[in-house]
Order: sequence, then structure tokens, then C-alpha cells
Amino acid sequence: MARRLYTSRTLGLVLGLLCVSVAMYPLNPAPWLWGLMLFNGLLWPHLAYQWARRSTTPYHAEHRNLLVDAFMGGFWVVAMHFNPLPSATTLSMMAMNNVAIGGLRFLLAGTVAQILGMLAGWLIFFPFFIPETSQLQLYASLPLMCFYPLALGLICFRQAHALGRQKRELLALSRTDSLTGLLNHGAWKDQLEVEFQRCQRQQQGGAIALIDIDHFKSINDTYGHVAGDMVLRHLSKMLMQNLRATDVAGRYGGDEFCVILPDLPLSSAAAVMEALRDRFATLGYEQTPALNVSLSIGLAAFNPSHTDATLWLNDADQALYEAKTTGRNRVICCGDGRSHRELLDPV
Ligand code: GH3
Ligand code: MG
Repeated sequence: MARRLYTSRTLGLVLGLLCVSVAMYPLNPAPWLWGLMLFNGLLWPHLAYQWARRSTTPYHAEHRNLLVDAFMGGFWVVAMHFNPLPSATTLSMMAMNNVAIGGLRFLLAGTVAQILGMLAGWLIFFPFFIPETSQLQLYASLPLMCFYPLALGLICFRQAHALGRQKRELLALSRTDSLTGLLNHGAWKDQLEVEFQRCQRQQQGGAIALIDIDHFKSINDTYGHVAGDMVLRHLSKMLMQNLRATDVAGRYGGDEFCVILPDLPLSSAAAVMEALRDRFATLGYEQTPALNVSLSIGLAAFNPSHTDATLWLNDADQALYEAKTTGRNRVICCGDGRSHRELLDPV
């Protein structure tokens, strides 16, 4: 915030110095007033920036600096004896600045500071009203009127753009599992809901798979959690490399993964999962060559009798349970009660 305000304050006060000094010149200001004008226009922006940067609460320091700006604005309006155009330009530019930075509340606080500045000026100058702005004073006000709104608009646009980007990044982070880079539980379930609705509309659809690592707890216990994490990452990498672009893989939680395979008959989905199970079982690990990891996979096809996505997921869960209870290291499709290997190669 301090850096952003530094740019706008430096520009605004230099242009303001031009506007105010040309309005003050015919009034023969005292040397101390010239000094104050030069200080306010040329030195104050740098001082305010350093002050805010060195503060333990830069945000509050900047609010205080903005109130000083507003106070000085009110002071100069009285010092110019309310010369209409420079006064209106000074007050309106400050109002625009305050509302852009702190909304209506800060506009109000800035107005109060301006009124205090005017009162201070009143005590010093006993002002009278100058009803006319000379042509030179008009031209001296134009740069502030033209360039300051442009600069402030640009700063606000950049800020809105950066906020939009940060929002998108945060949204992506909130949907991603940090260890594996796959969708997390909530994000995957959102995708499942979308796929379920699509299947219902078209009365056809693909399959979902729940994949669980066998005896993962003992892998952790034997080789350590770092090795366990490595296995989780290998599995997610394999999922990303071996699935189609339209398939949606996620980490359901712990050592359980989940995949949506749209527009794929159950037999083809089973073949894909069987290939994955087979490849993963033969995977070698550099750091721990003795490590051998197998997968149990439960598959379920979309069924028009499913009234909601949870029932579809329950079918896959049931199949995974069967894979676990019938010996692990296998792919089971919901309802068939036999592993996919047995289906491919009946004995
Ligand atoms: P089963 O064959 O029945 O699936 O047995 P299992 O040991 O794989 O299943 P269990 O649910 O008992 O153990 C899962 C383990 O996964 C327990 C937990 O400590 C571990 N785990 C969960 N999340 C992580 C993680 O992010 N990293 C590591 N290294 N371990 C995790
Ligand atoms: Mg497990």
C-alpha cells in the first residue's frame, strides 16, 4: 500500500504544487509559506513513504499520512483565499483519492481533516474570497485535473487485476491436494456431481474408480512417512500420465484416490485400471528397492437407477471393499463380485 501511495502522492503533490503556487503567487506569500509549499509538494511524499515503511504498522501509518495530505489540502484552499478553480481541483482530487483508497468512511475522515486544515488556515490568513481564476491559474490547474485521475485509475486497475489473479490462484490452491497436486476431496466431489448430472441428462455415462493402496500403514511403519509420501506422489504421477485428458483424478483422502472416467464402458474402464494396478505393482523405487506396493481398486458404472451421486460413489466403495476383503491387489467392478483379472482370465 505504501509503495502504491508513494507513486500517486508524488505525482499528485508535484502537480498540486504547480496548481497552488500559481494561485498563491499574486498574493505575495511570506517566505515560510513558499518553504511550506515546496516541502509539501517535493519532500513530503518521500518522507511519508519512509515513515510508513519504517512503521511497525505501515497500513495505519499510511492512513495517518493521508489525513496529513487532507489537512494540508484544506490549509492550501484557505491560503489561496478560495480561488475557485485551484480550490475545487485540490479538494476534488483529494476526495477522489480518499474514496479510492478507503471508501466512504475514509472520504468522511478526509473531509474532517480538510475542515481542520481550513480552520488552521483561517486562523493564520483571515481569508477573503477571490471570486475569479486567472487564465494562467486555469492552465496551471489543468495538469492536476488531467493526469492525476489517469494515474489513479491506472493504479486502481492494476490493483483490481492483481486481486483477480490472486483470487484465481487461491481458488486453485483451495481445490488442490498439496502433496500430490491432484484435486482434493471437495473439488473432486464437485466434479463427480457435474459428471453425475451430465450422465443423468444423457442417460448414459462412464465409470468411477476408488483406488486404495494396500497395507499403506505398514509401508509408513517400515520405511517411514517420507517413503509413504513418495509412494503417494508416484501414484498420483502415474494417474496423471496414464489417464485421458478428460478423466478426472483426485485424492479422496489418506491413501485413497478417486477417478472419474467419462464416456467409458465399464469393461474398458476396468482394463484401464487393471493396467494401472499392474504397472504400479511392478514399479521400482530408487531409494527403497525392496518396496513393493499394490493397489485395490473398486469400479462402478453410472446406473440410471442412481438417484444421486452418493449412490454411485457407494457402489464404487462397495467394490473397493470387496477388493480388500477378497485378497487385495485387484480390480473389482461393482456387482460382479469377481476381480477383473478373473473376468479376463477365468479359471
Ligand atoms: P488397507 O490395505 O486395508 O488399505 O490398509 P492400510 O494400512 O493401507 O489402511 P489404513 O487406513 O489403516 O492406513 C492408511 C494410512 O495412511 C494411515 C495414515 O497414517 C496414512 N496416511 C494418511 N495420509 C498420509 C500422508 O499424507 N502421508 C503418509 N505418509 N501417510 C499417510
Ligand atoms: Mg490403504
